[in-house]
Amino acid sequence: MLTHDELAIVHLVLNTDCNAWDLKATNNSPGVCRFCYRERNRVSTDADTVRRVVDRVRSESEAYRCVFTGGDPVMPYDNHLEVALRHATEVGFETNLHTNGLLLSDRYADLRDHVTVYSLAVDGPSSETADWFRGQGYFERFVSNVEFLASDRRRLAFNTFTTAASVKDLPGLAQLIARVTERTEVEYWLISQYRPIGRASTRKAEIYGFERDDFVRAVEEVRGEVNGVTIYAQPTRLPEDPYPFRVWVLADGTVTADLGSVAAPRNAVLGDLPVTGFEPLVRRAFALREQTPLEGTA
Ligand code: SF4
Repeated sequence: MLTHDELAIVHLVLNTDCNAWDLKATNNSPGVCRFCYRERNRVSTDADTVRRVVDRVRSESEAYRCVFTGGDPVMPYDNHLEVALRHATEVGFETNLHTNGLLLSDRYADLRDHVTVYSLAVDGPSSETADWFRGQGYFERFVSNVEFLASDRRRLAFNTFTTAASVKDLPGLAQLIARVTERTEVEYWLISQYRPIGRASTRKAEIYGFERDDFVRAVEEVRGEVNGVTIYAQPTRLPEDPYPFRVWVLADGTVTADLGSVAAPRNAVLGDLPVTGFEPLVRRAFALREQTPLEGTA
């Protein structure tokens, strides 16, 4: 059994594609998130397999929370999201739905009773600032999502991505989030800086790169402005600065993990959960992580 201290949170991936990819780019909007590393869908599964995968994670770990991520888990096709959320809550997990929210209202009725916290992405406090990142109309949709979720007293969280230009907008976002706390519970605000992971390009580094100290200072300045909401900061990483250990379970049973290297282009595939079991695969990742030299430290 993996203890709670060894593994508290598991990421479950039902699909790696995203509902935003069908949006058309316009003159002042990228259509999809500017920083997106597109990937085709590489998860193919069915409802029974999803349930079996969730059961194995449950029986072999004390993890308390399943994070549903992607791509985006709220898709215009049946990716078994409702089945997965319902089953995860039935076997005792909290669930965290990470979504851009574009299709959330369409699927809400069937999701509502099985989501512990909704993590919504927002990168600026206005249409002008937020839509630059994620596409025309994004902020409007975000506001409407917050409105109906807050009215329904759901627990929320926020994810924010910053650039050299947008980091000055954090106080405006802090005010927005503080206002939401007056209506419903907000669990956390995750603020991230660009991280030069394996697929980084020079062009993206030019747009998003700025000093780590400037980021840290900007986050510190808003810590006291959000009515007690926990703020997590993800500054850019140095090569010798490892990623925290995280496990992603694809809903077809493939288990992958960060082995810590900033230079790795994608997570390492550990194996097939139904064949090998969840705990042995995660222990394999612990061992590999110990052995994997981080760039700059070898
Ligand atoms: S929500 Fe995520 S996957 Fe979708 S376009 Fe944005 S960055 Fe890409």
